[in-house]
Amino acid sequence: ETVENYKAISAAEFFYKYKEIAGFANPARALYQTVRELVENALDATDAHGILPNIKITIEKADQVHEYYKITVEDNGIGIPPHIVPKAFGRVLFSSKYVLRQTRGMFGLGVKVAVLYGQMTTGRPVEIITSQPGLRRIYYYKLRIDINKNQPIILERGSWRKNRDWHGSIVSLTIEGDWSRSKSRVKDYIKRTAVVTPYANIVFMTPEGEIYYYKRVIDKLPSPPKRVKPHPRGVDLELLKRIRETGKYTTLYNLLTKSFQSIGDVTAKKLISQAGLDPNIDPMKISDKDLLRLVNIMKKYNKYRPPKAQALSPLGPDVIKAGLTRIYEPEFVEATTRKPSAYQGHPFIVEAGIAYGGKVPRSPPDKPNLLRYANKIPLLYDEGSDVITAVIKEDINWDNYLVHLPAPIVVLVHICSTKVPFKGVGKESIADVSDIRREIKLAISEVARKLRNYLSKKIKEEEKKKKIVN
Ligand code: ADP
Ligand code: MG
Repeated sequence: ETVENYKAISAAEFFYKYKEIAGFANPARALYQTVRELVENALDATDAHGILPNIKITIEKADQVHEYYKITVEDNGIGIPPHIVPKAFGRVLFSSKYVLRQTRGMFGLGVKVAVLYGQMTTGRPVEIITSQPGLRRIYYYKLRIDINKNQPIILERGSWRKNRDWHGSIVSLTIEGDWSRSKSRVKDYIKRTAVVTPYANIVFMTPEGEIYYYKRVIDKLPSPPKRVKPHPRGVDLELLKRIRETGKYTTLYNLLTKSFQSIGDVTAKKLISQAGLDPNIDPMKISDKDLLRLVNIMKKYNKYRPPKAQALSPLGPDVIKAGLTRIYEPEFVEATTRKPSAYQGHPFIVEAGIAYGGKVPRSPPDKPNLLRYANKIPLLYDEGSDVITAVIKEDINWDNYLVHLPAPIVVLVHICSTKVPFKGVGKESIADVSDIRREIKLAISEVARKLRNYLSKKIKEEEKKKKIVN
């Protein structure tokens, strides 16, 4: 006899059961991922809002018997409105980043999976201390997640008067972790973060009491990303329906010209007439069939201006060079930021930097040392399946640039986009999208040519010296 049991589960229960897909597969990986989620939130709360970040990361052993670790990250960011705190930390898929603007976070997931992991392994709640600029009080919360309801349970809350002008957040989580197995990854993650944030002060304290301090070396922040409207090439039926259901637009013409970028008067009229519709029709009265025809026409039309790049926040060559110099003190460093491009209606920019010599470690024999980044996040795992790895191994012949591997060379590649084509929600590797692959190759080649000039001069000078000695 077969009796099926049908039921729906909440988003919290889904990620509680399948935490592996969000990067929480085991205690070692979970410790790394928790640090990452907290640091990324801290940086999003600072540099994306024009604040020079001061970030403090502490990992402490939190139990005599068990392998419990307390991870605390403090930032000087914009803080969180007190009434939002419970949802931001206690409701899976709740975020302030579901808008078209480049941020590190994007799923409204990260910190909540860490909270869930903490409560299932140690039973300890998340603690948040936060205040926004201009507020007179500092707020304090202790909470956990009701997994069935996907809702926060507030265990403690309070507030006190501010006696100095502090703003930012301090978030603490206690999880079961494996420090000895995650140590090198965590340190590497923080170091790679420091490479692309030379404008940040970062302090990191390990459970052994070691302190790593990356001091700010540049006062220039990348220009913060701005919110933009969607580009029509990325439209689909649901998006169009959601826009019309806002009720803001009384005619189809209005809806197209006001809610999308790159649709002006001429384009709107062309699209509407190709779809055989009336520009003055009330959007709510368009049938699904007609709407779908319009969607297909919008997607195929190929004379739009490309998507706006103001939503993006590339680092810029100065920041990349300062960052590589802060960590590697190289004899040669160069960087480039490519012009904006687009894939499937999503704008993206590729940047590349190369450091050579100095404290740069020797590379493996098959490729230069590689630092991969997406929206300023370092990517550490799944290097083998990433498009950036494919480019530096398959599309570039390093001997042509006078780099004979193994060599003291590190290549940094940063892809920023309002939609990075990650292969999973753990955000570790980027899919092979041909437009992106082409830009990566062009960016690296541009910098590699400068390295070749430098190396060829150096070789000539050394030959001259030899002749004088002989
Ligand atoms: P995501 O980062 O993908 O949006 P998270 O679950 O990591 O999702 O965070 C949820 C929300 O909580 C964020 O969108 C942000 O609004 C808020 N938040 C989390 N940490 C901080 C912080 N340190 N400072 C300010 N806001 C924060
Ligand atoms: Mg986040």
